[in-house]
Amino acid sequence: MLRVESESPDVPVDLTAVDPGSTPGLPGRKVTGSDPKLWARGEVERIGAELATQQEMLFARGTIEPELGRSVLLVLQAMDCGGKDGAVKRVAGAMNPLGLHIRAFGPPTEEERRHDFLWRIRKSLPPVGYVGVFNRSHYEDVLVVRVNGLAPESVWRPRYKKINDFERKLVDSGTAVVKVMLHISRDEQRERLVRRLDDPTKQWKFNPDDLDSRASWDDYQAAYAEALARCADAAPWYVLPADRKWYRDWALSHLLRETFADLKLTYPKPDYDVAAQRRRLEADG
Ligand code: AMP
Ligand code: MG
Repeated sequence: MLRVESESPDVPVDLTAVDPGSTPGLPGRKVTGSDPKLWARGEVERIGAELATQQEMLFARGTIEPELGRSVLLVLQAMDCGGKDGAVKRVAGAMNPLGLHIRAFGPPTEEERRHDFLWRIRKSLPPVGYVGVFNRSHYEDVLVVRVNGLAPESVWRPRYKKINDFERKLVDSGTAVVKVMLHISRDEQRERLVRRLDDPTKQWKFNPDDLDSRASWDDYQAAYAEALARCADAAPWYVLPADRKWYRDWALSHLLRETFADLKLTYPKPDYDVAAQRRRLEADG
């Protein structure tokens, strides 16, 4: 439904076909009642409890059988104000912080710039048994880098293939990778930027550079459209309409639940004799 099905890597994904204000897959009023927002918030909590259980099983398996190594990696990309932070708080926040591996990527440091663009990404991957969340990612290296001309095309264009190869290895080594673009409209971004400026408790989130990115809106959309089409080899992309925060959280919760379901997790069997251990404890008085 929200999964990007691109005809060919050479045909950019048509992002205009996804209305950022829409709510695909949301059940009708018969199910949600008269207030879909309230319903969705309740569902996010309910699904959140399921995610927490799944994460615990992933963590338990990673602890007991690290050689079977499974992890989950959620890659979040969005324009500024797209809701990445909110999604992390509401959806990842349902899980146990102990088993989360959350990383945010800003402009590379001097040290990072001395290495290949994937260097800092590899160092940030979730260990076995963990749920990783990338708040921005290696995709910035074909997005902001391309739009702002931070590197010539001869540098960023070969990165699509490098990203595909990297993600293929990651998936083959047991990491379930889900890539999500939180898709907001230009109007919604404007409203959220205004709200940031109006609210002294949100002003810290505003960065004057955001207005420069906003001025390059169409270039960003084109860069996203191409990245999503070119980098769908190993791990799927999802475009989530994100103008409505409650829908965004609901859809993302669903997506994570599906990702976990594919892993068919169960709690590991202990490698010790439970009865024998119980007898030892009883003998202990
Ligand atoms: P935020 O996610 O709002 O904290 O902003 C992080 C900023 O870092 C954004 O403006 C990104 O475009 C920027 N950024 C992230 N990765 C890179 C990169 N590889 N090169 C340049 N800028 C980046
Ligand atoms: Mg920002």
